[in-house]
Amino acid sequence: MEGVLLTGSAQAGLAGECVRCLEPIEDETEVRFQELFVYDDTRDSEQNSEDDEVSMLQGDLLDLEPLLRDAVVLALPFQPVCQDDCPGLCTECGARLADDPDHSHEAAIDPRWAKLAHLEPEQDSPRDPD
Ligand SMILES: [Zn+2]
Ligand SMILES: [Zn+2]
Repeated sequence: MEGVLLTGSAQAGLAGECVRCLEPIEDETEVRFQELFVYDDTRDSEQNSEDDEVSMLQGDLLDLEPLLRDAVVLALPFQPVCQDDCPGLCTECGARLADDPDHSHEAAIDPRWAKLAHLEPEQDSPRDPD
């Protein structure tokens, strides 16, 4: 009596990148939605017709876009990955580890100690001025 109850589903193509290795991801999602679109006969009342909470019919038409957008956004993965066990990028050189699982470097010096590597061992002990 008060409007049109819309029930539907939609398929949407997704494009993004893996949060771990930045590899492009393409996927598909299917969303379902249901919304009551009320007849726009309250225009002369105090009710604000721009109220986001209420979907209005516009004449005989309804605007599906906000509803569809909300449904798709909610269905998006929060942290998309190219594969569930994506190992991410090498912290040394940025290589994508999924492409090169045996990737390794010479044992890196702990950066906290790296400066010590430049120190020359002293020949004479300063405690012994002789
Ligand atoms: Zn990845
Ligand atoms: Zn590397």
